[in-house]
Amino acid sequence: MSRVTGPVCRLCRREGFKLFLKGRRCESEKCAVDRRNVPPGMNVNNRPKRLSDYGVHLREKQKAKRIYGVRERQFKRLFHMAERMKGNTGVNLLSILERRLDNVVDATGMSLSRSHARQLITHGHVAVNGRKVDIPSYMVRAGDVIAPVAKERARKLVADCLELNADKPVPNWLALDKEAASVRVNNLPAREDVRFQNIQEQFIVEICSK
Ligand code: SF4
Repeated sequence: MSRVTGPVCRLCRREGFKLFLKGRRCESEKCAVDRRNVPPGMNVNNRPKRLSDYGVHLREKQKAKRIYGVRERQFKRLFHMAERMKGNTGVNLLSILERRLDNVVDATGMSLSRSHARQLITHGHVAVNGRKVDIPSYMVRAGDVIAPVAKERARKLVADCLELNADKPVPNWLALDKEAASVRVNNLPAREDVRFQNIQEQFIVEICSK
Protein backbone atom coordinates (compact mmCIF):
# COMPACT_ATOMS: atom_id res chain seq x y z
CA MET A 1 0.00 0.00 0.00
CA SER A 2 1.26 3.39 -0.85
CA ARG A 3 1.08 6.22 1.61
CA VAL A 4 2.60 9.66 1.27
CA THR A 5 3.12 11.11 4.72
CA GLY A 6 4.58 14.47 3.65
CA PRO A 7 2.75 17.51 2.22
CA VAL A 8 0.89 16.22 -0.82
CA CYS A 9 0.40 19.63 -2.43
CA ARG A 10 4.11 19.45 -3.32
CA LEU A 11 3.27 16.53 -5.60
CA CYS A 12 0.77 18.66 -7.52
CA ARG A 13 3.24 21.54 -7.77
CA ARG A 14 5.89 19.13 -9.10
CA GLU A 15 3.50 17.99 -11.84
CA GLY A 16 2.25 21.55 -12.41
CA PHE A 17 -1.30 20.28 -12.36
CA LYS A 18 -4.03 19.45 -9.83
CA LEU A 19 -3.96 15.82 -8.71
CA PHE A 20 -6.96 16.32 -6.38
CA LEU A 21 -5.41 14.63 -3.36
CA LYS A 22 -7.14 16.71 -0.68
CA GLY A 23 -10.82 16.42 -1.49
CA ARG A 24 -12.85 19.62 -1.39
CA ARG A 25 -9.86 21.78 -0.49
CA CYS A 26 -8.63 21.19 -4.05
CA GLU A 27 -11.63 23.13 -5.37
CA SER A 28 -11.18 26.03 -2.96
CA GLU A 29 -8.98 29.09 -3.26
CA LYS A 30 -6.55 27.41 -0.83
CA CYS A 31 -5.28 25.04 -3.54
CA ALA A 32 -1.48 25.38 -3.76
CA VAL A 33 -1.46 24.98 -7.56
CA ASP A 34 -3.88 27.88 -7.96
CA ARG A 35 -1.93 30.03 -5.54
CA ARG A 36 1.66 29.21 -6.48
CA ASN A 37 2.13 26.93 -9.45
CA VAL A 38 5.92 26.49 -9.36
CA PRO A 39 7.87 23.30 -8.63
CA PRO A 40 8.66 22.79 -4.93
CA GLY A 41 12.14 23.36 -3.55
CA MET A 42 14.73 26.11 -3.66
CA ASN A 43 16.39 27.76 -6.66
CA VAL A 44 13.40 27.30 -8.93
CA ASN A 45 14.79 29.85 -11.37
CA ASN A 46 18.02 27.92 -11.92
CA ARG A 47 16.30 24.81 -13.20
CA PRO A 48 16.27 23.89 -16.88
CA LYS A 49 13.08 25.15 -18.53
CA ARG A 50 12.76 22.25 -20.97
CA LEU A 51 12.43 18.60 -20.02
CA SER A 52 14.29 15.95 -21.98
CA ASP A 53 12.30 13.33 -23.86
CA TYR A 54 12.93 10.90 -21.03
CA GLY A 55 11.83 13.54 -18.52
CA VAL A 56 8.51 14.08 -20.31
CA HIS A 57 7.81 10.34 -20.30
CA LEU A 58 8.86 9.96 -16.68
CA ARG A 59 6.63 12.83 -15.51
CA GLU A 60 3.63 11.17 -17.16
CA LYS A 61 4.27 7.93 -15.30
CA GLN A 62 4.84 9.76 -12.01
CA LYS A 63 1.63 11.72 -12.53
CA ALA A 64 -0.42 8.51 -12.89
CA LYS A 65 1.29 6.89 -9.89
CA ARG A 66 0.62 9.92 -7.71
CA ILE A 67 -3.00 10.34 -8.77
CA TYR A 68 -3.84 6.73 -7.93
CA GLY A 69 -1.44 6.39 -4.98
CA VAL A 70 0.48 3.47 -6.45
CA ARG A 71 4.14 2.74 -5.85
CA GLU A 72 6.64 1.71 -8.54
CA ARG A 73 6.56 -2.03 -7.93
CA GLN A 74 2.79 -2.23 -7.92
CA PHE A 75 2.61 0.04 -10.97
CA LYS A 76 4.95 -2.29 -12.90
CA ARG A 77 2.80 -5.26 -11.91
CA LEU A 78 -0.35 -3.50 -13.14
CA PHE A 79 1.43 -2.53 -16.35
CA HIS A 80 2.32 -6.17 -17.06
CA MET A 81 -1.29 -7.12 -16.34
CA ALA A 82 -2.45 -4.45 -18.84
CA GLU A 83 0.01 -5.77 -21.43
CA ARG A 84 -1.45 -9.26 -21.18
CA MET A 85 -5.00 -7.99 -21.71
CA LYS A 86 -6.56 -7.59 -25.16
CA GLY A 87 -6.62 -4.09 -26.67
CA ASN A 88 -4.56 -0.95 -26.10
CA THR A 89 -2.11 -1.40 -23.19
CA GLY A 90 -2.28 2.26 -22.10
CA VAL A 91 -6.08 2.28 -22.00
CA ASN A 92 -6.08 -1.08 -20.18
CA LEU A 93 -3.71 0.34 -17.58
CA LEU A 94 -5.89 3.38 -16.93
CA SER A 95 -8.96 1.16 -16.73
CA ILE A 96 -7.24 -1.08 -14.16
CA LEU A 97 -6.25 1.95 -12.08
CA GLU A 98 -9.81 3.34 -12.21
CA ARG A 99 -11.16 0.00 -11.00
CA ARG A 100 -9.23 0.15 -7.72
CA LEU A 101 -11.64 0.08 -4.78
CA ASP A 102 -10.14 3.23 -3.19
CA ASN A 103 -10.64 5.06 -6.48
CA VAL A 104 -14.30 3.98 -6.70
CA VAL A 105 -14.99 5.09 -3.10
CA ASP A 106 -13.30 8.46 -3.75
CA ALA A 107 -14.88 9.00 -7.20
CA THR A 108 -18.40 8.52 -5.90
CA GLY A 109 -18.00 10.86 -2.91
CA MET A 110 -18.24 8.11 -0.30
CA SER A 111 -15.06 9.55 1.23
CA LEU A 112 -13.55 13.00 1.72
CA SER A 113 -10.45 12.27 -0.38
CA ARG A 114 -8.50 9.40 -1.86
CA SER A 115 -6.45 8.93 1.32
CA HIS A 116 -9.67 8.98 3.37
CA ALA A 117 -11.09 6.31 1.04
CA ARG A 118 -8.03 4.20 1.68
CA GLN A 119 -8.47 4.66 5.42
CA LEU A 120 -12.17 3.72 5.32
CA ILE A 121 -11.27 0.54 3.45
CA THR A 122 -8.31 -0.54 5.58
CA HIS A 123 -10.33 0.11 8.74
CA GLY A 124 -12.95 -2.34 7.51
CA HIS A 125 -15.81 0.08 6.78
CA VAL A 126 -16.40 -0.96 3.16
CA ALA A 127 -18.02 -4.08 1.72
CA VAL A 128 -18.20 -5.42 -1.82
CA ASN A 129 -21.26 -7.57 -2.56
CA GLY A 130 -21.99 -7.71 1.17
CA ARG A 131 -18.54 -8.95 2.20
CA LYS A 132 -16.00 -6.74 3.96
CA VAL A 133 -12.99 -5.87 1.78
CA ASP A 134 -10.04 -4.15 3.47
CA ILE A 135 -7.68 -4.01 0.48
CA PRO A 136 -7.61 -0.56 -1.24
CA SER A 137 -6.14 -2.05 -4.44
CA TYR A 138 -9.02 -4.55 -4.80
CA MET A 139 -10.25 -4.39 -8.40
CA VAL A 140 -13.99 -4.06 -8.81
CA ARG A 141 -15.83 -5.99 -11.54
CA ALA A 142 -18.95 -5.23 -13.54
CA GLY A 143 -22.01 -5.93 -11.39
CA ASP A 144 -20.25 -5.40 -8.04
CA VAL A 145 -22.07 -3.42 -5.37
CA ILE A 146 -19.94 -1.33 -3.01
CA ALA A 147 -21.49 -0.15 0.25
CA PRO A 148 -20.55 0.48 3.88
CA VAL A 149 -20.50 -2.63 6.08
CA ALA A 150 -23.61 -3.28 8.19
CA LYS A 151 -22.44 -1.22 11.16
CA GLU A 152 -23.92 2.03 12.39
CA ARG A 153 -20.55 3.82 12.46
CA ALA A 154 -19.59 2.82 8.92
CA ARG A 155 -22.98 3.84 7.55
CA LYS A 156 -22.80 7.21 9.28
CA LEU A 157 -19.27 7.90 8.03
CA VAL A 158 -20.24 7.19 4.44
CA ALA A 159 -23.59 9.00 4.67
CA ASP A 160 -21.84 12.14 6.02
CA CYS A 161 -19.33 12.08 3.15
CA LEU A 162 -22.09 11.62 0.57
CA GLU A 163 -23.92 14.60 2.02
CA LEU A 164 -20.80 16.77 1.89
CA ASN A 165 -20.09 15.65 -1.68
CA ALA A 166 -23.69 15.94 -2.87
CA ASP A 167 -22.67 18.06 -5.89
CA LYS A 168 -19.78 15.81 -6.97
CA PRO A 169 -20.34 14.30 -10.43
CA VAL A 170 -20.30 10.49 -10.46
CA PRO A 171 -18.47 8.71 -13.34
CA ASN A 172 -20.77 7.15 -15.96
CA TRP A 173 -19.59 3.61 -15.34
CA LEU A 174 -20.80 3.76 -11.73
CA ALA A 175 -24.35 4.17 -10.42
CA LEU A 176 -24.66 5.77 -7.01
CA ASP A 177 -27.74 5.13 -4.88
CA LYS A 178 -27.63 7.92 -2.30
CA GLU A 179 -30.53 6.55 -0.26
CA ALA A 180 -28.88 3.17 0.19
CA ALA A 181 -25.36 4.73 0.24
CA SER A 182 -24.23 2.12 -2.28
CA VAL A 183 -22.56 2.09 -5.68
CA ARG A 184 -23.11 -0.36 -8.48
CA VAL A 185 -20.47 -0.99 -11.16
CA ASN A 186 -22.45 -0.84 -14.40
CA ASN A 187 -19.56 -1.64 -16.71
CA LEU A 188 -15.79 -1.47 -16.75
CA PRO A 189 -14.38 2.02 -17.37
CA ALA A 190 -13.46 2.94 -20.95
CA ARG A 191 -10.90 5.62 -21.88
CA GLU A 192 -13.52 8.38 -21.80
CA ASP A 193 -14.52 7.37 -18.27
CA VAL A 194 -11.06 8.05 -16.83
CA ARG A 195 -11.36 11.04 -14.50
CA PHE A 196 -8.00 12.52 -15.50
CA GLN A 197 -8.35 12.91 -19.24
CA ASN A 198 -5.01 14.68 -19.68
CA ILE A 199 -2.90 11.63 -18.81
CA GLN A 200 -0.94 10.66 -21.93
CA GLU A 201 -0.96 6.90 -21.57
CA GLN A 202 1.21 6.29 -24.65
CA PHE A 203 4.13 7.97 -22.85
CA ILE A 204 3.63 5.64 -19.88
CA VAL A 205 3.59 2.61 -22.16
CA GLU A 206 6.80 3.78 -23.88
CA ILE A 207 8.72 4.30 -20.64
CA CYS A 208 7.45 1.11 -18.98
CA SER A 209 8.25 -1.00 -22.05
CA LYS A 210 11.97 -0.09 -21.98
FE1 SF4 B 1 -3.19 19.38 -5.19
FE2 SF4 B 1 -5.45 19.49 -3.84
FE3 SF4 B 1 -3.21 20.52 -2.79
FE4 SF4 B 1 -4.46 21.72 -4.84
S1 SF4 B 1 -5.24 21.45 -2.75
S2 SF4 B 1 -2.29 21.37 -4.65
S3 SF4 B 1 -5.17 19.94 -6.03
S4 SF4 B 1 -3.64 18.35 -3.26
